[in-house]
Amino acid sequence: MSNNASKILVSQRCGCPNCGFSFPTSEIQDWYSQPSGGKMTAICPHCGFHDIIPDASGLSIDDATLKEIGKKLFDDGKSPLAGEMQADFLSAFDDRIINDTERNEAIFLQYSDGFASRGGTYALTRIGMFYEFGTRFAKPDLKTAFSYYANDALATDGFALARMGKCLEKGEKGEDSLREAFQCYAHSAALNNDYGKMYLGDCYWHGIGVEPNPDAAGSIYIGLFHSVYEMFVFSHGDNPHILPELCLRLAKLLIETKQKDDESELSALRYALLGRFALAYKQNDTLFRFYELDDIGRELGTIISDLASQVGAVIGNPVYDEDTFYDSFDAFGNMFYLNQGAGQVSFQEGDDHSHSLTLNLACGWMLVIDVMNLYVDFEEGNVNFQFATPGYFYPKKRKTFFFVNVSISSGGTICFLSESGPDRDLYFEFDEDGSGEPLPKGRAGEA
Ligand SMILES: [Zn+2]
Repeated sequence: MSNNASKILVSQRCGCPNCGFSFPTSEIQDWYSQPSGGKMTAICPHCGFHDIIPDASGLSIDDATLKEIGKKLFDDGKSPLAGEMQADFLSAFDDRIINDTERNEAIFLQYSDGFASRGGTYALTRIGMFYEFGTRFAKPDLKTAFSYYANDALATDGFALARMGKCLEKGEKGEDSLREAFQCYAHSAALNNDYGKMYLGDCYWHGIGVEPNPDAAGSIYIGLFHSVYEMFVFSHGDNPHILPELCLRLAKLLIETKQKDDESELSALRYALLGRFALAYKQNDTLFRFYELDDIGRELGTIISDLASQVGAVIGNPVYDEDTFYDSFDAFGNMFYLNQGAGQVSFQEGDDHSHSLTLNLACGWMLVIDVMNLYVDFEEGNVNFQFATPGYFYPKKRKTFFFVNVSISSGGTICFLSESGPDRDLYFEFDEDGSGEPLPKGRAGEA
């Protein structure tokens, strides 16, 4: 029944011992190969089980025989093998090995529901998201989504609580349900869930169930951003978490609340670029297959193209100059420590007071952002920056330096922080007016 693809292809009909149907071979749309061995067989178009019997095998596929084999193998779904087959179907569906058809989606729901009814929290969440966001074949159904999230098995699940809040917010528009939504987000945030915290920020921004307070929203988003960004960088993209959504919010908030100036437009563009970059990683997470990723991508795309034309940024290769250094490291304009961690810097001084820095971060890679070239990507190993603006290192005698972090002051001084305390820090200061030796500044952020 497995490794029988060639027999299936020369068969007129095949039979499935699980559901007991026999069907013309032409009805088969999906194929299955064992992840370990690559033994190819077909998936039953009626029930999604792999391992079917082709008539060319010489075995009988009449109703009585299929029923008898099915009883032995699957015992009306009670045998462990039946559970394994269902799990195989679900992972084939998630990995998009099988076609995205209405029938496969219905089988997905049926088997997920089985796992959910046995208290499977992942299955409950996924079905909730299926109904919350809808699919190509099914419209969103917020009431049903809510009932899955509200399952007892998810009672202390901060993500499910955040999603319950969303269902309330998107569903009935009355004041009461908006207040209830706010309560769900507050409860979720109290369970330390970042979605709950982010949606709580949305409530303050847009006045959902609470008095509007955009400043409070901004503080919540920024408070979340640093750890989420750090997690994304250190996981080399494996953990995008809420970074795409959060960047979208930060970009929109900057556009909406700040004065129109180049500085905030560049910051907003930086967030949007980072969000779009992280979104590509989030698209690999099957939990978010039924989720608003496409909408987030569209919104980020629009913001990027609008802002790019305003500031004159165009797609190009990164230039490793001081702008890119700031884009890559300076999270938000000023007085923030960087999110990219510890590493080693070595520097060379040119005849004309130009400098090049070679950075090698302890994690082994660096997230390089060049806003004016609309560029974001991970780069491995050494990254070399060339600063055209003259500047000074202080103290001068050290050419290679291990730092625990880097901070940038609003005046443009870059400070490589030493493990041994401020006395051992290394500073780089741009000398834009050519006025001579700089004085060392205090650590940014500690003022
Ligand atoms: Zn079947």
